[in-house]
Amino acid sequence: MQLPPMHQAIDVMAEKLSAVKGMNDILPPDSARWEWLEDKVRALMARYAYRNVRTPIVEPTALFVRGLGEVTDIVEKEMYSFEDRLNGEQLTLRPENTAGLVRAVAEHSMLYDGGKRLYYMGPMFRHERPQRGRYRQFHQIGAEALGFAGPEVDAELILLADALWKELGIGDVRLEINSLGQPPERQQHRTELIAYLEKHADLLDEDARRRLHRNPLRILDTKNPAMQAMVDGAPRLIDYLGAQSLAHFEGLQAMLRANGIEYRINPRLVRGLDYYNLSVFEFITDSLGSQGTICAGGRYDYLIEQIGGKPAPAVGWALGIERVLELVKERGTHIPTLAPDAYAVIPDAQALPLALTTLQTLRAAGVSVQMHAGSGEGMGSMKSQFKKADASGARHALIFGADEVAQGMVTVKSLRDGSGTQVLRPLANALAWAAEIRS
Ligand code: ATP
Ligand code: MG
Repeated sequence: MQLPPMHQAIDVMAEKLSAVKGMNDILPPDSARWEWLEDKVRALMARYAYRNVRTPIVEPTALFVRGLGEVTDIVEKEMYSFEDRLNGEQLTLRPENTAGLVRAVAEHSMLYDGGKRLYYMGPMFRHERPQRGRYRQFHQIGAEALGFAGPEVDAELILLADALWKELGIGDVRLEINSLGQPPERQQHRTELIAYLEKHADLLDEDARRRLHRNPLRILDTKNPAMQAMVDGAPRLIDYLGAQSLAHFEGLQAMLRANGIEYRINPRLVRGLDYYNLSVFEFITDSLGSQGTICAGGRYDYLIEQIGGKPAPAVGWALGIERVLELVKERGTHIPTLAPDAYAVIPDAQALPLALTTLQTLRAAGVSVQMHAGSGEGMGSMKSQFKKADASGARHALIFGADEVAQGMVTVKSLRDGSGTQVLRPLANALAWAAEIRS
């Protein structure tokens, strides 16, 4: 095979290859927790009538620059961007999925017949310093409602997230909300915020100084403890909201209260991305150290237009799967195990064709069966096969011994209830006894 020059330069024999820093393999048994979560999310989204969307992992870089805003952490320093070697296109591994989803909605005129409720799950990429709850490839689940302007969909999305926490057994996360108002209100606030920050220029760190005239709102979001007190005294956006913005915010709150959703208004809550307006919210836990935000979202009524679509209101959230699962683990939520119902013990290779046929029948009837497989030098001793049967967690062993197979039978032995009960079952109609061993 002819390899392109770049690949020839790599000495493939030299060293052991490992995953890229900050990017994780998700392996059994942990992957069971991921599948469990994904199943719960699919079922829940269906109950709220949100439909699945899958957009490409690679998008034009311009989508994120235009969509997220140039003066954001993501666009300034976190994107995996590269040039397509064949045609020079500027491309980026998606750092988030809202911009891609909105691009798809606009590209396919999905709102032509009314609003849409959509969700996605998948990997995102940000070049950050890896630490607990912060990775370079991480995974998000997001829910987005497009084409609806009223606060009822903001409320619906928050209720959906809240229902998910309950499903996952992590009901004790707290909700913070705020309103960023509309652009003219932000404009007025911005002028006074800049004046205030200029007065305290000596306290601004390097990031803040750079953002002062380009994106001063983001300074309120600082994690620098030395700036906290100064930032606490800054003009609050919420005090600049007009009647309509306030009505939207109060409408949302009334619906949350009516549904028993506790929340706190955090006037300093702004989102890291430029595209938000009106409602913003975060679900936060104290159990994960400084990576405590598990889900964040808000309204982004101007994004579709910004990336070239027909104007339409929109609201959504994204949760970090790694952080949510960390919390699930911490809370000790019970995850159904992946133990098979039965383990097939096959002492002699001669029984294999018949054993395989029986197992196929059982599996078609919904029984999960792990087949013992040999080493290449025979099937292994009964003792070692039973050891593997035990380790598999199966509740039954199916023993395809020469004697019983000769009689057209298989022994079903109970492994978990301590009784060690053994019964003979006919091979010919496995369907008849499948239910006995199916969990
Ligand atoms: P943070 O302030 O923690 O950097 P963010 O504001 O950048 O978060 P969003 O872009 O709003 O995060 O993404 C929504 C959610 O995705 C976050 O609340 C978090 O749970 C998760 N998330 C974001 N970045 C990462 C990452 N690098 N690794 C793991 N999860 C992440
Ligand atoms: Mg971030």
